[in-house]
Amino acid sequence: MAAKKMVRKLSGTKEWAEHTVNICTGCSHNCRYCYARQYAVKRFSRRESADWVREELTQKASMTKYPARKNPVMFPSTHDITPNILEDCVRVLRVILAAGNEVLIVTKPHLAVVERLVKEFVKPDRRDMIEFRFTIGTLSPTLSKFWEPGAPLPSERIAALKVAYEAGYKTSVSMEPMLGGFDTVSEVMAAVQEYVTETVWIGKMHRISAVVDMDLRENQIMVAALKSKQTDTEILKIYQMFKDNPMVKWKNTVVKVLTKYC
Ligand code: SF4
Repeated sequence: MAAKKMVRKLSGTKEWAEHTVNICTGCSHNCRYCYARQYAVKRFSRRESADWVREELTQKASMTKYPARKNPVMFPSTHDITPNILEDCVRVLRVILAAGNEVLIVTKPHLAVVERLVKEFVKPDRRDMIEFRFTIGTLSPTLSKFWEPGAPLPSERIAALKVAYEAGYKTSVSMEPMLGGFDTVSEVMAAVQEYVTETVWIGKMHRISAVVDMDLRENQIMVAALKSKQTDTEILKIYQMFKDNPMVKWKNTVVKVLTKYC
């Protein structure tokens, strides 16, 4: 397919699901590129940036009903499923699933969280209604610790992926944002593809200068390093390498580059 026809208007998590459910404001993963924090702080003035790590349940956490949707419901999209709010997330997932909905669970997975979730939805068996999508943008603990300081390290995320796969769930991986270039994508792909039943999504960091605090010198240095690894040339190299892999899906941040050249 010509790349020009691949352009989607949607971006970010909207490329994955029409319906999303969130039950919390704040996220202890505290990623430096978190668009949800940017929305909460700058757009809605709900939080001070430094306070984003405080996880506060919203009224949605008490929901007892959810409508049946035609398309899968993504949970969550503006926070994560951390150990602090795990049981609240399990309860809300039960409510969404009880209405017959398929659910896309998107997380930087804690192993203990995934162990709990996979156990929960085996009896009654909801495995065909659930797809796990785990964000793994690098295998480097150093890079992960910098960009996603409160999140599990890549090795723990891969262990969680294996647990979900071996428990018989549908599994996918998001390499958005990829935290490097060609080598990073190749390494992550090699580490995960054995445990992926569905898709691997590849995308650049979205709206990088808007979401990352560019007043911090350390961020300036790391953003420059990241940009140097995600030049159009590098993106085209990644595309050439993986374009025939049926698992691979391109996020809009990559498609935009392809449309310039293909
Ligand atoms: S895990 Fe998601 S919601 Fe949490 S800080 Fe990171 S990007 Fe934001």
